[in-house]
Amino acid sequence: MAQLLMDDGYELVENPKKAGVLIVNTCGFIGPAKEESVKVLKELAKQKRNNQLLIAAGCLTQRYGVEVARQVPGIDGILGTRRWMDILQVVNKLRATPHPEPFYHLPDAATVGADERRIIRASVAGASAYLKIADGCRRPCAFCAIPLIKGTAVSRQMDTIVAEARELREMGIRELILIAQDTTDYGHDLGMKDGLAVLLEKLTDEVPEMDWIRVMYSFPGYVTDRLVDVMASRKQILPYLDIPLQHAHPNTLARMKRPANMEWVHTTLAKMRAAMPDPSTLPMVAGQRLSTLPLVTGQRLVIRTTFIVGYPGETEEEFQALMDFVQEIRFDRVGAFKFSFEPGTTSEALGDPVPAAVKDERWERLMSVQQNISLQINQSYVGKTLDVLVEGYDNGLTIGRSYRDAPEIDGLVFAEGKAEIGEMVKVKISGAMAYDLTGTLLQTPIKL
Ligand code: SF4
Repeated sequence: MAQLLMDDGYELVENPKKAGVLIVNTCGFIGPAKEESVKVLKELAKQKRNNQLLIAAGCLTQRYGVEVARQVPGIDGILGTRRWMDILQVVNKLRATPHPEPFYHLPDAATVGADERRIIRASVAGASAYLKIADGCRRPCAFCAIPLIKGTAVSRQMDTIVAEARELREMGIRELILIAQDTTDYGHDLGMKDGLAVLLEKLTDEVPEMDWIRVMYSFPGYVTDRLVDVMASRKQILPYLDIPLQHAHPNTLARMKRPANMEWVHTTLAKMRAAMPDPSTLPMVAGQRLSTLPLVTGQRLVIRTTFIVGYPGETEEEFQALMDFVQEIRFDRVGAFKFSFEPGTTSEALGDPVPAAVKDERWERLMSVQQNISLQINQSYVGKTLDVLVEGYDNGLTIGRSYRDAPEIDGLVFAEGKAEIGEMVKVKISGAMAYDLTGTLLQTPIKL
């Protein structure tokens, strides 16, 4: 939306007071996100000047546009996520016509679709860019409202994605983060098999200068051997697996309508770890580490997952199975959500029977176990050297991320010394906390 507006002569401003058009891209995924969206809209509506327009866009308005407008007096326009590309039309209409009542732009559209108006579908932060490869979802997860909001999955054309990656590289982007509701489903609607692996091969072949390519949101059950091979053998693809498992007890997973075959999970994680092992654990032969594997990256696989606690019917025994699983697998990163009841989803009939206090307590227990694991894993990096992409500088410290850290959700590396934003530097790690690492800059930036 920002790019469409900028193409039409609009400029981004940091301060909402200086904006002519205020757009809030709302989230409708879970209760706390909905509340935050409405809170921001209310704050902006309260301070809105007469000549400003306030537009509520995104997922929450796609499902609950009328309700949002009712809760926030002062909204001028409502735009759903399926037709985000009509933003200029909505702004122009609001500018041209008096609108005592909010203007709704929620036309019938079954999916987000492929009408992209020839703009790059990327969100850029420093030297990193999130690039959308598909939108919508066709999975049946019982707790999730996303298929109701976005419709089924629609993949973007591979050539378009590759062209955008190249353009982003030319703009100075060094880390490309591929996103979709389910990246492993990429290409099924284009008639492709193993579409994500094919896309990664093409991206690494055709944009070899991109330093890092990170894949987010891999659906369990669809991590294929070819995907594992690509990740293990292509230097640019970070050995970072983001696989939201949601739970570890087969009964809970079955109620969630998620893949419930825990044997598959164990086998796949073991297979991936074997394909991308910790180089320091490989046997030594004649003073050299012996690897019979296509270990190009030389970095161990990092695994991130997310879980839901307090799902309807989750017994203490089921929760304990989740705790045991977390202790056994020793994930590098774990995110946890407390179950949020979403009307209209297939889990609606199950209600929300687990008391809030039980959800809180289970969340605390899970996170505290994971914090210890995370700290121990971080401590194993002390004395090692990591490539770090610089994101900022504060109080004499360079702040950045290594391949182990996706932006915003994972940890950071704090290094003594100064480097510029967007540079890739080597940092010798000297300290570890539960989420972050500390160290010292080793040398001048790694040149492009
Ligand atoms: S795969 Fe993700 S987005 Fe799709 S229905 Fe399941 S939880 Fe929702």
